[in-house]
Amino acid sequence: MLNIDLHCHSNVSDGVLPPAEVVARAAANGVHALALTDHDDVSGLTAAQAAAAGTGMTLIPGVEISVSWGGQTVHIVGLRIDPLNPELEEGLIGIRRGRIERARRMSEDLRQNGILGAYEGAYAVAANKQMVGRTHFARWLVAQGHAPDLRSAFRRFLTHGNPGYVDHEWTSLENAVHWIRASGGMAVIAHPGRYAFNARELHLLLDAFRALGGEGIEVITGSHHPSEYGKFADLARAFSLKASRGADFHAPGEGIDIGRLPALPHYCKPVWQGWPELEHHFSYSLA
Ligand code: AMP
Ligand code: MN
Ligand code: MN
Ligand code: MN
Repeated sequence: MLNIDLHCHSNVSDGVLPPAEVVARAAANGVHALALTDHDDVSGLTAAQAAAAGTGMTLIPGVEISVSWGGQTVHIVGLRIDPLNPELEEGLIGIRRGRIERARRMSEDLRQNGILGAYEGAYAVAANKQMVGRTHFARWLVAQGHAPDLRSAFRRFLTHGNPGYVDHEWTSLENAVHWIRASGGMAVIAHPGRYAFNARELHLLLDAFRALGGEGIEVITGSHHPSEYGKFADLARAFSLKASRGADFHAPGEGIDIGRLPALPHYCKPVWQGWPELEHHFSYSLA
């Protein structure tokens, strides 16, 4: 069976490893095809592509776009995108600009709760000064001793009702799917199990996503408990969406490692079905 992992992060967004090290780790873990899907930024893809050359592993250019839909933040993964597409690039620049302004408000909210210097602290943590997010704040809060680890940092801070949390309007679902498709990519709903939607709202999201040209949904992800895999595999089938698999790796020792997830349920149609760049892997495995 091919080991395909279509969701992970480098230090271009909120992961800790540079793109080349993410790629090397995937290859060492026996991954055949890896998508690097940094939040709202595609600037790691050149280094990732270069690092993948010669490993035998196929690098799929990807991105994870932050969207506001139905009063919540939803993540849309774009696979096989063209990182040079001007519409996509302009869109991502706008989202990253919004992140800077949100970071100021997060820092101000932390200050009002007695924690000073969070903005500068988060920026010092971020390797890419163009892409700052809650994880950089969380890593800084841990380093400052305000929380023992990342999970607790998100439990005490930066989440709804806690210091450092601010509402933020991301881009629309329509824009995200459009940019991905305009750049030749396939849009996939990331970790559907993470959203606080009820069944009716989730069905509305899937319908809206399909109507906009979205094609896939993550079934196997580090964000889903194994007991949820079947539910999302069924949902994919019911809504004629292709199924994706990705660890959502951010850092060694945090969550599931790259390429270490179970396979898709056999009745799922994988998102990678028919991708020509994977053909040679399939013929090798048959030989
Ligand atoms: P942002 O896009 O800046 O709002 O940050 C979202 C990121 O924060 C996610 O992609 C995760 O990497 C991280 N995150 C969110 N909630 C948690 C949590 N409870 N524990 C650990 N990481 C989290
Ligand atoms: Mn993240
Ligand atoms: Mn996500
Ligand atoms: Mn992710």
